[in-house]
Amino acid sequence: MTTALYAGSFDPITNGHLDITTRASRLFDKVVIGIFATPEKRLMFTTEERVNMAKKAVAHLSNVQVRPYDRITVDFAREIGAQVMVRGLRMVTDFEWEFEMAMMNRLLSPDLELVCFMASQQYQFLSASLIKEVASLGGDITTLVPKHVAEALKKKGVTRT
Ligand code: ADP
Repeated sequence: MTTALYAGSFDPITNGHLDITTRASRLFDKVVIGIFATPEKRLMFTTEERVNMAKKAVAHLSNVQVRPYDRITVDFAREIGAQVMVRGLRMVTDFEWEFEMAMMNRLLSPDLELVCFMASQQYQFLSASLIKEVASLGGDITTLVPKHVAEALKKKGVTRT
């Protein structure tokens, strides 16, 4: 049985993340979305909110689980018995960073294989940070995130001072 870990901050989960998750779920027996609790980014949503939004978004995918984690990603991969780490590649700019991280991860955990999915054309430009910026300025992001995520973004926007 092959378990794949798809790790990230998912602040919040977008249709781009969902596209990668869906494609990975067809290829691997089990996919775990690992939500990193304390990334070096400024977060809009708490870990609990990010986990709940992701869970709701993948509820229809029976072999996908969502779990928060708070340590080095390769250790979490080992803990859940993942043999594969999944990443999504958007533009060339993603590549350099992903390559750097892949080399470090290989050093730390030589048996963990990396599988990168090319982002689908319609999501090439889509990032959680851009979504947050557009949503906070009142832009329409309803085609880029699941409905419940759009509602959560809207709520955060309304409570912003
Ligand atoms: P973001 O870069 O959007 O803040 P994360 O840190 O949560 O997202 O990213 C987790 C993984 O998902 C990374 O491998 C990232 O490249 C990938 N990813 C993010 N957005 C997309 C997208 N629109 N299409 C494909 N992959 C994506």
